[in-house]
Amino acid sequence: MNITLIGSGYVGLVTGTCFAELGNQVVCLDVDKRKIDLLNSGGVPIYEPGLQELIARNAAAGRLRFTTDVQDAVAHGDVLFIAVGTPPDEDGSADLKHVLAVARDIGRWMQGFKIVVNKSTVPVGTADKVAQAISAELEARGHSPNQAGPQDGNIPSFAVVSNPEFLKEGAAVEDFMRPDRIVIGVPGSEAGNRAREAMRVLYAPFNRNHDRTYFMDVRSAEFTKYAANSMLASRISFMNELANLAEQVGADIEMVRHGIGSDPRIGFNFLYAGVGFGGSCFPKDIQALIKIGQEHNSRLRILEAVNEVNDRQKLVLTDKIIRRFGDSLKGRHFALWGLAFKPNTDDMREAPSRAIIKALVERGATICAYDPIATEVAKQCLAQDFAAAPELLKAITYSDSHFEALNSADALVIVTDWKSFKSPDFSEVKARLSEPLLFDGRNLYEPEAMAELGIEYYGIGRSNGH
Ligand code: NAD
Repeated sequence: MNITLIGSGYVGLVTGTCFAELGNQVVCLDVDKRKIDLLNSGGVPIYEPGLQELIARNAAAGRLRFTTDVQDAVAHGDVLFIAVGTPPDEDGSADLKHVLAVARDIGRWMQGFKIVVNKSTVPVGTADKVAQAISAELEARGHSPNQAGPQDGNIPSFAVVSNPEFLKEGAAVEDFMRPDRIVIGVPGSEAGNRAREAMRVLYAPFNRNHDRTYFMDVRSAEFTKYAANSMLASRISFMNELANLAEQVGADIEMVRHGIGSDPRIGFNFLYAGVGFGGSCFPKDIQALIKIGQEHNSRLRILEAVNEVNDRQKLVLTDKIIRRFGDSLKGRHFALWGLAFKPNTDDMREAPSRAIIKALVERGATICAYDPIATEVAKQCLAQDFAAAPELLKAITYSDSHFEALNSADALVIVTDWKSFKSPDFSEVKARLSEPLLFDGRNLYEPEAMAELGIEYYGIGRSNGH
């Protein structure tokens, strides 16, 4: 099939590349010329395991190309995926300006029948707005679009489908190639039926073992994505709140996690206490769903609490540091392991490390940070965070060795659970720190083992009273 991805970020690039890997002819479009130039010169703008090799292979095979030319990209695809960002507006609702700009581009250039697939995470009802934006452009071109039935020849007609994406950054290629489920919302019309059949064929290679596709109406598909992210974020905030209480009552949240996760109705996934969730999706999607609830007089109290708990949790580790050293951290120097919001990605959007670094530096501390992948992206994000007080940026240095980052630090602060942090040589850690002191925001280690090693250890919700 001929496929176009409009928006070549985490979702668009992974989706396009994976469809090319299955033999489709794919064009990836972006407005960001630097991104497209980089891709055309063999570079990859994001870090995602396995992606670089896949892009190189499919580009070399002539199945995958990159462009900034909207007319060319719209002409190429029988299926046009919208995969642009939907950042939060000032009031928390999803900002649809990029999605609707793409819809207008499609309406401006399309010929014949197009299946327009919304992969961006969008509020319920967005497919209707996309259809309206396309129709308005078609009318401006003198066509009267008939969504009820695809027309013959080159007369433009279309169907708008919702196909939310569930990939996880850090495992995006694997998730896309082996999805748990494929959710597809199609309109109940003749054009919708044609789109449904095309989507079935497009996704058939993912369904060989068993059918993973859930066809539904468009609004339910749009809602499903927000519901999934909200449920996952709720589990995290729930565990974080219990972790904070566990510390007060002398219980260990890690034991509790095992005790409840073994119940199949609960399960072990997404039950980790830590420094809160971040990333480009959970925070904004929860805000957006809260806003949708407000607009429909259906307040989502649980989700409001999920957000509130998360904002507080990002500073739990800093609170522990302040309790240990006092309110002023002037003259204190910390090693910080992990900048990305989670392992295996360079994504720094809403990363807890940003809140932690800000709080420490504003109290006078200096930091040497190490991250296996995200350092360059982190530098740009922190420059934005400190735009009002750029002199504070000098307090942050970076190391390309996790051990060197420890040199002469008053403590090690762990923020992201990269695999390579799980079993460090603790004698080396102790030797390099000026004090054997560890603040572990991801509960990577056991308090008893740390005590035996002579390391003063602070985890999240652990029973050693810290
Ligand atoms: P991203 O910011 O990485 O990429 C979006 C891209 O769209 C950018 O490269 C941008 O330049 C481009 N763009 C913006 N306007 C454009 C236009 N008019 N024409 C062409 N390109 C345009 O975003 P992302 O992380 O890939 O997320 C995209 C959508 O997918 C969002 O709605 C997000 O919520 C959703 N989503 C993201 C993830 C994830 O893990 N990142 C997972 C599932 C769903």
